Amino acid sequence: MSSPVSHGMIGLSLGLAYVLPKGSWRYAWSAFREKWGLLAATLFLSGSPDLDLLPGLWVGNLNAFHHAYTHTLGWVFLMSAGVYLCWRSFHPEDGWRCFVLFFLAALSHLGIDYLTEDTSYPYGVMAFWPFQSDYFLFNRSYFLGPEKANVAALFQWHNVKVMIVDFLVCLPILLAVLVWKWALKQRGRRWKWSS
Ligand SMILES: [Zn+2]
Repeated sequence: MSSPVSHGMIGLSLGLAYVLPKGSWRYAWSAFREKWGLLAATLFLSGSPDLDLLPGLWVGNLNAFHHAYTHTLGWVFLMSAGVYLCWRSFHPEDGWRCFVLFFLAALSHLGIDYLTEDTSYPYGVMAFWPFQSDYFLFNRSYFLGPEKANVAALFQWHNVKVMIVDFLVCLPILLAVLVWKWALKQRGRRWKWSS
């Protein structure tokens, strides 16, 4: 796994790409206020595969159930579909693009973990379950793996370094989204986030 910083920043980048409105910064704040719940759902989904750390708390080993079925395509689909159906019942104006946003947010977690240093078995992510149970890990790491054997191990300098690296790697992506929206404004294009 990577740290919540990388998952959160990529989730935020995806959410802002969706929420920032209609090629104009003038309405950005009102759109942000109107759609903060959608941003929160996007952030939740981008971190949701790491919910498998919670049962590890119970047995005193955070890694006990980590990187199994929650880090799979099956989980990504079920979680994004579930959150989308809940969201849609309150916001029927949000159509299929909202589902795509939720799906990509959850999927981004697998992508980041695939690119993250992994020093404990099982290595990588079982990305394509339920279609196959092989684990995948890229042969080069762009993110550091945090120390997380137990809760006490979380509070150490190495994990601060992990979060700094996460921030620096993800910042260009977040900025690219903002520049993209700015460019939309410059070209005077309209972009609707609701279907
Ligand atoms: Zn993870």
